[in-house]
Amino acid sequence: MRIADLPGRPIIRLDTNQGIHGLGEVRDGSHKMFALMLKRLVVGENPCDVDNIFRKIKQFGGHARQGGGVSGVEMALWDLAGKAYNVPVYQMLGGKFRDRIRIYADTPQSADPKVFGERLKRRVEQGFTFLKMDVSIDLVRKVPGALTYPEGQSFAYNDPTVHMFTGIEVSDKGIELMADYVARVREVVGWQVPIGTDHFGHISVNSIIRLGHALSKYNLAWMEDCIPWMYTQQLKEITHAINVNTLTGEDIYLKEPFEVLCREHAVDMIQPDLASAGGILETHKIGDMAEEYGVPMVLHMAGSPIACMASVHCAAATKNFLVLENHSVDDPNWADIVDGIEKPVINKGYIALPQGPGLGITLNEEALKQRIRDGGYFQPTPEWDIKQRIDDRHWS
Ligand SMILES: [Mg+2]
Repeated sequence: MRIADLPGRPIIRLDTNQGIHGLGEVRDGSHKMFALMLKRLVVGENPCDVDNIFRKIKQFGGHARQGGGVSGVEMALWDLAGKAYNVPVYQMLGGKFRDRIRIYADTPQSADPKVFGERLKRRVEQGFTFLKMDVSIDLVRKVPGALTYPEGQSFAYNDPTVHMFTGIEVSDKGIELMADYVARVREVVGWQVPIGTDHFGHISVNSIIRLGHALSKYNLAWMEDCIPWMYTQQLKEITHAINVNTLTGEDIYLKEPFEVLCREHAVDMIQPDLASAGGILETHKIGDMAEEYGVPMVLHMAGSPIACMASVHCAAATKNFLVLENHSVDDPNWADIVDGIEKPVINKGYIALPQGPGLGITLNEEALKQRIRDGGYFQPTPEWDIKQRIDDRHWS
């Protein structure tokens, strides 16, 4: 196991004694050590036995970025297995439901709804058929009377205080202004294109319900991560109270928590990030499980073309898939690190399903080398050859 330390998105390469290799990616914002600590469990195994290896390593993953190592190694195993048998990954998952994958793009915010609306309109002109925007309390923070909060409470996105514990409430005036922002955006971009919404701020269950009521008339695709995903009962309360689809999942590891959300109908839609959720097969299973509960699956994705292609294969092979995120549509060099697929990779709002073996991509080594940190290009990793026997079993 070797790593190319692409900033924020470490690329995993699993080499075999057959001269082929597989590529994976540790989730954005995670760390290469989450993959490297799995090396002792992967070396010496047959990489084509993907599920067998996954079951050995899955106990060393966790929610959000802690799932990045297990999920990234799993991607690389599928890429290897596909290259070994000369078939694309989607084919090994049972075949495809679609030949191209619908992409939704994030768009840089502006405090001016007209400016932001024009940016969204440009996305539609570029061919995007699904959009997302933030509707944050930051829009009204400086307006007197819009928010009520304890003096000194942080509004930072990274503040560790959970929504219900901040004491931040939105007034009727604040809600009216936030809804008016969305109305003005709709005026510019029109009513046809679906728009998901995210990043409302760390506000209470009742404030989000009141905001949801005000936003429902703009026919939004969804309201995302209204409160943290693990508060099932409160999410359920929000979902049942408002007439906008609720959605969560980008931080969830493995299928079981998704099943709780679907069974309880705590959200209307799920959105796993394949690079956190446990990789390609686990995300496919999550989709199939949700389908039985009548819940569609959106895919979250903020990675390089490697995590993106893993998501594309999974999306192609999963019936209830709706749309896949891409965070990099404004970066003209985003796809330079891979070859072997149609360029531009995102073409008029879609990605064509690659037909090559495995993930269907090869590395452009020169482009990748230009982007990585000093000395971080697929160096040997003998320090992770742990010889000491460790008893991994959870039972006796
Ligand atoms: Mg989000």
